[in-house]
Amino acid sequence: MEFAFSPQPQAAVPVINSDQFFPIHRIYCVGRNYVEHAKEMGGTGREAPFFFMKPADAVLPVATDTVGEMHYPSMTGDLHHEIELVVAIGKGGKDIAAKDAPQHVWGYAVGLDMTRRDLQADAKKLGRPWCTAKGFDQSAPIGPIHPIGKTGWITHGAIHLNVNGEPRQKSGIDKLIWNIAETIEHLSKYYELRPGDLIFTGTPEGVASVKPGDLLEGAIEGLGGLRLKVV
Ligand code: MN
Repeated sequence: MEFAFSPQPQAAVPVINSDQFFPIHRIYCVGRNYVEHAKEMGGTGREAPFFFMKPADAVLPVATDTVGEMHYPSMTGDLHHEIELVVAIGKGGKDIAAKDAPQHVWGYAVGLDMTRRDLQADAKKLGRPWCTAKGFDQSAPIGPIHPIGKTGWITHGAIHLNVNGEPRQKSGIDKLIWNIAETIEHLSKYYELRPGDLIFTGTPEGVASVKPGDLLEGAIEGLGGLRLKVV
């Protein structure tokens, strides 16, 4: 095939302790998947899961033992952090039953669903799409992918985020309203999942604003940490 010009490079995230990279196909995100966060966003905590997307090249890979750098995005005065468990899909499919979901998972990572909260609030008020609030460049900082062969199927474990050493978000993966298997079941009714898809599974309560100079330190039990400086 002859392209009119060179395609953009394939978005990819390093696999931990390996020379391999996990190639990104799509980034799906789950909204309001922890009860207390759903409440702080104005919901009841009992809604069915809903989804939005980020472009594949919104990933900002951060290697273990390094501090990633995210540029404070344009057009916002209220950039929020959302620490999330990320599920990496290795085997595609549609209408996947929850009981079959584990065989579709390739691995996991620690991710941040960075959000222009002011633009999201405007979009909600006006009934407009969330794309500029959620899908901007560098809006998906992510640590290395941990293969499921090493981690096992994740159902619990602590998840937390500190900003400048102060605790901001702290919860457990067992607090997900829709667990990983149920999330895959719901999502695969709307989209045919493909190898390379990432699913940001939602954030616990405590989301808040960050500013240039802030150091974000997130971690999920069994998946290590993710450190990011906003510049
Ligand atoms: Mn989120």
